[in-house]
Amino acid sequence: MTVSLYDTTLRDGAQMEGISLSVEDKLRIAHKLDELGVHFIEGGFPAANPKDIEFFQRMQDVKLGNAKLVAFGSTRRAGADPAKDPTLNVLATAGTDYVTIVGKAHDLHVRAVLETSYEENLAMLGDSVRFLKSKGKGVFLDAEHFFDGFLSDQDYALSCLRSAVNNGVDGLVLCDTNGGTLTSTLLETIEIVQHAFPNTPLGIHCHNDADVAVANSLAAVEYGVTQVQACINGYGERCGNANMASVIANLKLKMNEDVVTDHQLANLTEICHFVSEVANMSPWPQQPYVGASAFAHKAGYHTDGVIKVSNAYQHVEPDLVGNQRRMLVSELGGSRGLLDKIAEIGIDYPVSREEARALTEKVKDSEARGYQYEGADGSFEMLVRRTLPGYRPPFHLDDFWVVLRRSDKSIEVDDNKEMQAEAMVKLRIFAPGDPDGRVMQTAADGDGPVNALDAAVRKALGEYHSGIGEVRLTDYKVRVVDSSAGTGASVRVLVECADEVDRWQCVGASTDIIEASWLALADAYEWWMLRHPA
Ligand SMILES: [Zn+2]
Repeated sequence: MTVSLYDTTLRDGAQMEGISLSVEDKLRIAHKLDELGVHFIEGGFPAANPKDIEFFQRMQDVKLGNAKLVAFGSTRRAGADPAKDPTLNVLATAGTDYVTIVGKAHDLHVRAVLETSYEENLAMLGDSVRFLKSKGKGVFLDAEHFFDGFLSDQDYALSCLRSAVNNGVDGLVLCDTNGGTLTSTLLETIEIVQHAFPNTPLGIHCHNDADVAVANSLAAVEYGVTQVQACINGYGERCGNANMASVIANLKLKMNEDVVTDHQLANLTEICHFVSEVANMSPWPQQPYVGASAFAHKAGYHTDGVIKVSNAYQHVEPDLVGNQRRMLVSELGGSRGLLDKIAEIGIDYPVSREEARALTEKVKDSEARGYQYEGADGSFEMLVRRTLPGYRPPFHLDDFWVVLRRSDKSIEVDDNKEMQAEAMVKLRIFAPGDPDGRVMQTAADGDGPVNALDAAVRKALGEYHSGIGEVRLTDYKVRVVDSSAGTGASVRVLVECADEVDRWQCVGASTDIIEASWLALADAYEWWMLRHPA
């Protein structure tokens, strides 16, 4: 193994707009990164805030199987004695074998941001490396704005690296901090750095502002760079960092770099979804390798081709990265695609040609009413199951009422007041061996009708199955659809639910938004209950 993977999801990735990780979140992600087989996990600056202090403390008791935890900080302050510099002392006592310090390598930043002299910056780099080496640490230097600095003043940028090398740095990480460097410039620069420091391992840290972070990282590896810094799912400030998932898959599958084991690679999709779940970011369906659409085939022509020759329209086998091929159900798919889809969702029933034709008709009917199963495998599965002989649904909605109210009596519209809703439901729940079912009647309040309905249904189902509390509604989308069809469906609701293990999507369509929501939610709960019998 020549290339090491340096993950900075917990530090640079956490800078992404919308991400806020608790200590618990960081610990869970660290475990997963270790499982994935990355070699270094950058945990943040151990004194940045109470959360990071606690994270490093708690990591002392965690035994990582593969990865080394890295503490991140900056060089000493201008004019400071390294032995008394607070940052360097925090790094020295963080309990990690490795530390990464970020230092300036761009003349403009030294002058305008650091507001110190060129000489002092060189001394800060050298002193900091020497101090941390004297404490027995492995030390990496993140040379900030290196590529831009190199264009601005090549000699000075190289002097910054030299100052670290002369003091025993273990690796020089060239950072494209603004993410705007294109591959040709990046490689020309790397080549000159390699000639200047032939005995020092180089790393690469790319941001994705020009959408070439992964390409740049891979090209750097081809040029002999041995450490790649990246973030899971491409998280990071602005447009993100190089995407660790794509970096790993490409290195392993396309570039013969054995950075992780086959088994670890096969967990890639699951781990990426886990991290997005913990970070509370919606997974990106089109994400290469691990996205839900990465191996999805829609058109009948493609579908046929993929069924005949699996690599006809996909660049790698999806199971290598733990993803799966999906046949999108649509009018275009034809009944052959439909049969394959039924097998794919794990329904073990020999569907005859006639049944397949009948199902295709059913799908077409539903689509004419506004349904769309492409993003709703859960509802498609329920549609199929309900047509199978002997299928008994776990529950049935006999009736529901939703009441909307405003708490004050004024007619004036008050933007600060939310509409309150109350829902009552009458559900019939069928326990095994109870063909008549038991009627449950519940009521619940909510922030709006759908929320109230959901709460009331959960209450009723919860009486029968306590585990229902694990199911979370993670996404809810409403779309007004063209009602050109005679029956005139006008609203389509797509819900996404998740528990600790699964994530599934269901759809409902109706002229009424509450009914459409109910249909989608009912599919989602039924789907879960089939997998988790009480
Ligand atoms: Zn960065």
